[in-house]
Amino acid sequence: MKTGEWKSRFQKPWIIAGPCSAESEEQLLKTTKAVSALGVEVIRAGVWKPRTRPNSFEGIGLKALEWIQNIKKEVNVKFITEVASAQHVELALKHDLDMVWLGARTTVNPFTVQEIADALKGSYLPVLIKNPVNPDLALWMGAIERIANADLHEIGAIHRGFSSFRKSKYRNEPVWQIPIELKANFPHIPLICDPSHIGGNRDMIYDISQKALDMGYDGLMIETHPDPDNALSDSKQQITPERLDEIKGKLKIRQTTS
Ligand code: PEP
Ligand code: MN
Repeated sequence: MKTGEWKSRFQKPWIIAGPCSAESEEQLLKTTKAVSALGVEVIRAGVWKPRTRPNSFEGIGLKALEWIQNIKKEVNVKFITEVASAQHVELALKHDLDMVWLGARTTVNPFTVQEIADALKGSYLPVLIKNPVNPDLALWMGAIERIANADLHEIGAIHRGFSSFRKSKYRNEPVWQIPIELKANFPHIPLICDPSHIGGNRDMIYDISQKALDMGYDGLMIETHPDPDNALSDSKQQITPERLDEIKGKLKIRQTTS
C-alpha cells in the first residue's frame, strides 16, 4: 500500500470536531464557527445517520450537503461526512465534501466497502475508516486495503470501540490491542481516536483522548454541539465548543512515536 505520506501534513494531535449530525444550517454554522476559532480545520457532520433502531432521527440527507456548501463559502474549513453507499459517495463528491468516513456498520460489510471504493476511485478524496462494530482486526484491515486498492492514498483509521453484550462503563469497549495491531500492520496510516463513541458519555472524553495520545495516536475525532442535551443524536456524548477548548488545552503529547 502506498498510503501514508499525508500523515506528516497534520499537526499532532490532529483534531476533527463537529456535531454527530447536521441538524439545521444554524446549528452547523454555529458549531463550525466556534470550533474553527479553536484551530480545528476539519469539521465532522453526519448527513446520513446509521441508527440502530428505526424511528429515531436518521439525518437530513441532501439538504445538509447544501448547508455544508454554503458554510464553506463563509468559513475556511474542510468538511467530512459518513458515506455508507455508492449513492452517498456520488452526492458527497457532487457537493464538494473534502473527506469522507466509513462508519463501523459499513466496515463490517466487504460488499459495501467495495462498492464505496469503486465509487470513490479517481476522486483522490481522503478516506477515514472506522473499525468494524465487532472486534475483528482483519475486517478493519480488509476495508483499508479495499480503499487503498482503489488508488486512494490519503487514508486514515478511526478507532471508535467495539460492541459487546457485556456490561461496561464504555458505550463501545476500546479493546486497545486491536488498534495497536492495526498500527503495527499499517504504520504509515494516521490513527485517530473517537472518544465520543468509545465512551458514550461526555465525562469520559478527556481521559480516553489523553490515553490515546499517550499511546501515540495521531488525532482525535470529537463530537461537538452547541447544545448537547438537545442534540438529535448521541446527546450524552457530545460536548460544547467551550468544553472542547478546555480539553484541547489540557491534553498533552507525552510521547511521540512514528
Ligand atoms: C458517528 O460518527 O456519528 C457514527 C454513527 O459513528 P459509528 O460508525 O462509529 O457508530
Ligand atoms: Mn455519533
